[in-house]
Amino acid sequence: MTKTENDAHVLIAGMGPAGVVAGLILCRAGIRVSLFEALADLPMDLRASTFHPPTLDYLAELGLTDDLVAQGLIAPSYQWRDRQSGEAATFDMACLEDVTAFPFRLQCEQFKLTRIAVDRLRAEPLAELHFGEAACAVTQDETGVSLTLEAIDGSRRTVRGDFLIGADGASSAVRRALDIPFDGFTYPEQWVVVSTSVDFADLLPGLSPVSYTADPEEWYVLLRTPDLWRVLIPVPESADPDVVLSDAFLQDKLQGIAARGAPYDIVHRTIYRVHQRIAGTYHVGRVALAGDAAHINNPLGGMGMNGGIHDAVNLAQKLVRVFRDGADRDAMLDHYSSQRRAVAERYVLAHTDQNKRVIEERDPEKRAAHLAKLRAVAASPEALLAHVRKGAMLDAVAESMAVEPA
Ligand SMILES: Cc1cc2nc3c(=O)[nH]c(=O)nc-3n(C[C@H](O)[C@H](O)[C@H](O)COP(=O)(O)OP(=O)(O)OC[C@H]3O[C@@H](n4cnc5c(N)ncnc54)[C@H](O)[C@@H]3O)c2cc1C
Repeated sequence: MTKTENDAHVLIAGMGPAGVVAGLILCRAGIRVSLFEALADLPMDLRASTFHPPTLDYLAELGLTDDLVAQGLIAPSYQWRDRQSGEAATFDMACLEDVTAFPFRLQCEQFKLTRIAVDRLRAEPLAELHFGEAACAVTQDETGVSLTLEAIDGSRRTVRGDFLIGADGASSAVRRALDIPFDGFTYPEQWVVVSTSVDFADLLPGLSPVSYTADPEEWYVLLRTPDLWRVLIPVPESADPDVVLSDAFLQDKLQGIAARGAPYDIVHRTIYRVHQRIAGTYHVGRVALAGDAAHINNPLGGMGMNGGIHDAVNLAQKLVRVFRDGADRDAMLDHYSSQRRAVAERYVLAHTDQNKRVIEERDPEKRAAHLAKLRAVAASPEALLAHVRKGAMLDAVAESMAVEPA
């Protein structure tokens, strides 16, 4: 039987960018949602910080973009640079003016999005928010799905719904409960992110707010956020985290990028491992995965969170068709999977891995040829538009939307 308005109940595990966006779309379409977040409050850690134009277009439809833009920094261009030659290719995103309302990258911490979205969800009569409860087991049958939650004090309860979205991040308990494989690989090196309030634009002339600097020994990424510059550098697999996160090590790296007559202030530092992985399937019966629960990739290109939000929009719109309009659930979910899994594999995983290969290229001739090609692209209006459409994920969204139902 088709569930009609307010009858259906969708459970969402995880209040990261994917979970909150899916929740807003569903409750505003008249579908009751319950969101469960393992932590007692929204995480405030520094993770993704780039919103691409199609993501901003989607968030604008939810009325979230004005607040987000007000709390972010508009990056009108991005760059590829060569550390040894000092040359750069700069991509001006104004070429997207006719394509999107947001012809720029918005540099803004992802926790600002989740905070804004959760405030909106609190005002929605069909949304319930539960903090401090982690999804830990899932069962499903003909009539619904049961989600067992473990509270911070160890107590457990089971809730029942018509559908479950696993948006509970890279270590997804929902994905594990369904035994869905998460195949791929882990890069050998560790990745360090260090943030400083020192303005690199004063130290490196012509620097864009987002830049990727190739080097055979030590590539790096510089990302400006409203208050800080974030620097991403690789360190060897065997490096001792205490050593590579020490003031002495980080000062040496920062001074190596741009020497200044004084130490850098270090506001934040972290080290992590990076994976390229994708779930074997995006849905099983009454459960579907979105965001990092479904795919994870390296941050070169800023595509992880953006791709996750694109999943959430696609999935939530299909669930609206199922629960409000009576569309066939399995057909809709197959379509979701064929659109979003294919794009994660062919585009997000492939593109970010390619960025990694280019940024660490050891052959000086290949590096020089690549930069020369990029400079030629940046100088040609047609080539620039094609290049920026790809980097801004506009092609990824268009390609996925072009996939017809089987
Ligand atoms: C250190 C780090 C740096 C990153 N930097 C970048 C970057 O520079 N650029 C980029 O594009 N991406 C980056 N990413 C990736 C980006 O943060 C993710 O792609 C994005 O957060 C995915 O959103 P999501 O909603 O799918 O998952 P998440 O943001 O991980 O949200 C999942 C939520 O679910 C909660 N949760 C976890 N388990 C459970 C459970 N069992 N039950 C209920 N809730 C649960 C978590 O607490 C979290 O709030 C980074 C990731 C990390 C870890």
